[in-house]
Amino acid sequence: KAVASERRLCTQRSEEIMRDAVNVMPGGVSSPVRAFRSVGGNPIVFESTKGSKIVDVDGNEYIDYVLSFGPSVVGSANDEVIEAVSTQARKGLSFGAPSYLENQLAHAIIDAVPSAEMVRFVSSGTEACISAARLMRAYTGREKIIKMTGCYHGHGDSFLVSAGSGVATLGLSDSPGVLKSVASATIVVPYNNIEAIREVFRKHQGEIAGVFLEPVVGNSGFIEPLPGYLAELREITKQNGALLLFDEVMTGFRISYGGAQSHFDVTPDLTTLGKVIGGGYPVGAYAGPRHIMETVAPAGPMYQAGTLSGSPVGMAAGLKTLEILRRPGTYEYLQRITQRLVEGLLDAARSNGHEACGGSLYSMFGMFFTKGPVHNFEDAKKSDTEKFKKFHRGMLEEGVYLAPSQFEAGFTSLAHTEDDIERTIEAARRVLARIPA
Ligand code: PLP
Repeated sequence: KAVASERRLCTQRSEEIMRDAVNVMPGGVSSPVRAFRSVGGNPIVFESTKGSKIVDVDGNEYIDYVLSFGPSVVGSANDEVIEAVSTQARKGLSFGAPSYLENQLAHAIIDAVPSAEMVRFVSSGTEACISAARLMRAYTGREKIIKMTGCYHGHGDSFLVSAGSGVATLGLSDSPGVLKSVASATIVVPYNNIEAIREVFRKHQGEIAGVFLEPVVGNSGFIEPLPGYLAELREITKQNGALLLFDEVMTGFRISYGGAQSHFDVTPDLTTLGKVIGGGYPVGAYAGPRHIMETVAPAGPMYQAGTLSGSPVGMAAGLKTLEILRRPGTYEYLQRITQRLVEGLLDAARSNGHEACGGSLYSMFGMFFTKGPVHNFEDAKKSDTEKFKKFHRGMLEEGVYLAPSQFEAGFTSLAHTEDDIERTIEAARRVLARIPA
């Protein structure tokens, strides 16, 4: 077995900053998962990031598998993206009026994403999902939506019901402040369970506006759809006059250029996007066929607006990011390094006597400390989260930054080298040899 690492992480400056932060921001953070509550220890405060590396305020460098929770698929602070952003910033940060950059990014999305005929830009994934739920209801004239346990669609009231990742991490089944009348219009079923969906449609005939899901789940950890599951959802929603929405905020342009819908060849009615399409800037979008999207104001009666929607700097960052992704070989490269990473991590775990399962699709991956298989959030919860805590801390000390929760997917980027991957696997071997099986 590998010799225990001598490395101790000095995080003095991070600790000072967090001691101040908790006095001025709830929990010291701008988004809950950043507080490290589920892995323990002080959160790491960062100073800079470039490519596959991220550097904290104490000068420690890590190989980064969080990548700002997904946007940085071409590598963080990519030179070409920065150039595009700087050029645009000199022309103007915001117009609050149309810009040609919006047409260009809309065309790029429509060309790539099978369900997209028209696009509305917003400023986050949350906003995209809230707006798309309103659109489902406005278009169908029905109120109830179905979501899957452990799928996260942002913090809109309709979605803070069995919401996975951040919410699961905090152990909240839902959130105070959410109107009961709103939450009760959301029906929750397990992911990958087609019979549960059929049952809901039988019980609520003519009441379901649509079904929301992450086509590949990232917010319960990484979970793939069972063969045929997405196609059956497509069929059932069609038969019942309900809309099918794929939340591709995480998977869009990550699981193939056209997202999970392109990879699995199942076209939903509506799609929500975020993360990658903003290239590191706050951009979200919802998209669908013209006859549905023209329900949105001012083409139609459903109101939705935003001061910074279609932000020119965000559009420029997104456009350049998509341009880089279209180059030959990008997805093949991401697929290859990520498969190697997961194979190496699983081998590091199993050869040290730990139960583990996991997988990847292109640049999205995950590993659970349980024998598996994991097909839904209930299965994911069998993972040994105490072991994950030790693994997470050990990997930090080895210079590898993983998402601070068992229930988050990991990400790679075009900037991750084969050497990064091998170094990560070696680090995992050392860490997992030290953790009792
Ligand atoms: N939908 C999915 C699938 C997500 O993963 C996320 C964020 O992680 C969201 C929606 C919400 O996006 P945002 O955090 O940009 O509001």
